[in-house]
Amino acid sequence: MVTVNPAPAAATPSAWDFASELRAIDDAQLRRTRRVIESYDGVRLRVGGRDMLGFCSNDYLGLAQHPALAEAAREGAQRWGAGATASPLVCGHSLAHEQLEQDLARLVGMPRALYFYAGFPANTGLVPALAGRGDAVFSDALNHACLIDGARLSRAELQVYGHCDAADLARRLAASSARRKLIVSDAVFSMDGDIAPLRELLRLAERHDAMLLIDDAHGFGVLGPGGAGSAAEFDLRSPRLLYMATLGKAAGVAGAFVAGSEDAIEYLMQRTRSYIFATAAPPLVAHTLRTSLRLIAEEQWRRDHLRELVRLLRQQARLPAGWRLGESTTPVQPLLIGGNEAALSAMQQLWERGLWVPAIRPPTVPAGSARLRLSLSAAHTVQDLQRLLQALAHIA
Ligand SMILES: *Cc1c(COP(=O)(O)O)cnc(C)c1O
Repeated sequence: MVTVNPAPAAATPSAWDFASELRAIDDAQLRRTRRVIESYDGVRLRVGGRDMLGFCSNDYLGLAQHPALAEAAREGAQRWGAGATASPLVCGHSLAHEQLEQDLARLVGMPRALYFYAGFPANTGLVPALAGRGDAVFSDALNHACLIDGARLSRAELQVYGHCDAADLARRLAASSARRKLIVSDAVFSMDGDIAPLRELLRLAERHDAMLLIDDAHGFGVLGPGGAGSAAEFDLRSPRLLYMATLGKAAGVAGAFVAGSEDAIEYLMQRTRSYIFATAAPPLVAHTLRTSLRLIAEEQWRRDHLRELVRLLRQQARLPAGWRLGESTTPVQPLLIGGNEAALSAMQQLWERGLWVPAIRPPTVPAGSARLRLSLSAAHTVQDLQRLLQALAHIA
């Protein structure tokens, strides 16, 4: 039988008008673009034939181009080839992955760790593994998108509490009759650099029979003794704590992990869909990460230098009227400007001076809080920071 597609009714507008969607993005000054990096050398980037000084990466310890990591990657490739071939639960879990998990658990001082190929899928998998229908997820208002998506995927009731507001969280926990209660929070907030009230969150978890999952993407390697992260910084120890962190930021490579009690991690390995149904990270990446963990633990000077840069920035910044630095003691320093256009113009003026400082706009941050996200790295020199401070003092 021959079927003939009916001609579309000319008057019906298509639901798929990408061009008009893009115009709406442009009208709101929200179009994002990518710059092509021609070479990386720590915070020195070559872009369009120009040498730029970056205050834009999450490479807080300056490890991403470390020669020892490049060498470890070469060695890993020689030993393991390129790909892991399968999910970890089929045949993708190599000795390199196994040893990395042991190193991770040892560094953060927790019984066991599970290594993921990336942080975003780690959280979108972990939250639904921990909470489902009839349960409740309590989520800080400024949590990272992957925790929010994880909560949505879980089908649990979502309770968003005020940013770092432990009193609001306490009220919500007390009023909840959910079977399982899961508290999720960034440890260091990715766009504000401030730190969650972790001790209070853990205390509330204990009082209300809840679990606490913290995402330390921006604290691991930077905070805590030996770079062990935010949980170690505040000496948090409890079977109710699940500690998640990523390995593409301060660790300079790629991936993520979750650490916790033996049983909790074994359970998560059985139940986390993004772990079970995804190809394992290449073993060469796991191999490279072992060298990164060694540098994190051994090279305390990187954290000391970083802390000094943060102090100098906050002490010496002279800012245009109406701009202010948000409260942050970490290498993520938000320079709050307000409007999207003003933030983009500030970014552009710094760019013309050879400085790359990204403007962050909604929906990454709340409407009206567009900002420059200054991020400091142990790879910055004090002279690099002076260059930034001088440029900020000159733009209006
Ligand atoms: C970057 C980030 C992630 C995602 O980690 P990737 O390894 O980059 O996928 C998760 N949580 C937070 C808070 C982050 O900043």
